[in-house]
Amino acid sequence: MSAPQGTTPEGTASSDTAIGREVGLALPRFEPGWVWLCGAGPGDPGLLTLHAVNGLQQADVLVYDALVGPEVLGMARPGAELEYAGKRGGKPSLKQQDISLRIVELARRGKRVLRLKGGDPFVFGRGGEEALSLVEAGVPFRVLPGISAGIGGLAYAGIPCTHRDTNSVVTFLTGHDATGATPDGIDWASVARGSPVVVMYMALKHLDEIRGRLLAGGRRPDEPMAIVSHASLPDQRVVETTLGACVEDAAAGGAVAPAMIVLGEVVRLRQALDWLGAVQARAAERADA
Ligand code: SAH
Repeated sequence: MSAPQGTTPEGTASSDTAIGREVGLALPRFEPGWVWLCGAGPGDPGLLTLHAVNGLQQADVLVYDALVGPEVLGMARPGAELEYAGKRGGKPSLKQQDISLRIVELARRGKRVLRLKGGDPFVFGRGGEEALSLVEAGVPFRVLPGISAGIGGLAYAGIPCTHRDTNSVVTFLTGHDATGATPDGIDWASVARGSPVVVMYMALKHLDEIRGRLLAGGRRPDEPMAIVSHASLPDQRVVETTLGACVEDAAAGGAVAPAMIVLGEVVRLRQALDWLGAVQARAAERADA
C-alpha cells in the first residue's frame, strides 16, 4: 500500500495508522490522555466509520454502552480494556455523572479512551453532556459521528426518512425524557401539524400515550407507521401498522426494544424498497438450491 495521501480536517497528514494505511488516508493518531467520543452506528458492524475503526485499533480502554454489540467490541486492539457503562435502571442522571467522571479519570491516567455509543453520540445519546464534562476537566477530545438509528436503522427497513413526494420535513424526537416519562418538552400538537414524517427514538414504552397525543393533534388513525426492532442486526424485525392500531400490532407482532418508530407516508415505500428482505430471500433460495 502507498503512503496515506489524504489529510484530516485540521490540515495535517497526522498519522500512519493501520486502517489509514489500508485505505490510503491519513487518519488521526490516538494520543494518550485523549478521549474519542465515538458513534458505533445502529448495530451492523459494517456501518462503523473509518474513524471508529481507527479508534478501535488504537484505544487502550473502551467505555461502551449497552447498544454496542460484541462484534464491534471484538475489533478492539488486543489487550485493550473493556468497560461497560450501560444503564442498569435506577437513577440515570447520577449514573451519567459517574460515567463522565470515569472517562475523565481514565484520560488523566494517560489512557487513550474510546467512548463508544450506539448510533451517533450527539443524537439522544448524552454525548453533549459528556463532551461538556471533558471541556470542564480540560481533557482533549474528538467527536466521531456515527450513523443514527433514526436514519440508518430506517434505511435497513427500506424506509427513507425523507422522500420528495411525501415530505420535506422530518422530526426526530424521543419518547422518553430524563425521568423516563413521555417528554413534556415536546409540543405534540405542533409536531402532529407540522411534520409529515415523525421518527421516534425510545418510544415503544409510551406508545399508547404518544398515539393519543398525535391523534389529538389531528393525525389520521389510518396513517402508516412502522416499528423497526433491532435495526440492522440479524434479528431485525419490522412491524408495519397504522397510528390507530400501533399499540396492539406492536404487541402482536413482537416489537421489542430497541426500536425505532416512524409515522408517515414514507412507510409505504417499504413495499418496494425492502432491500434487506430481498437480500435475505435470495440467500434463502440459494441455501435451498
Ligand atoms: N445515539 C443513538 C440513540 C440512543 S437512544 C442513535 O443515534 O441512534 C436509544 C434508542 O435508539 C433506542 O431506544 C431506540 O429507539 C434507538 N435505537 C438504537 N439502536 C437501534 C437499533 N439497532 N434498532 C432500533 N432502534 C435503535
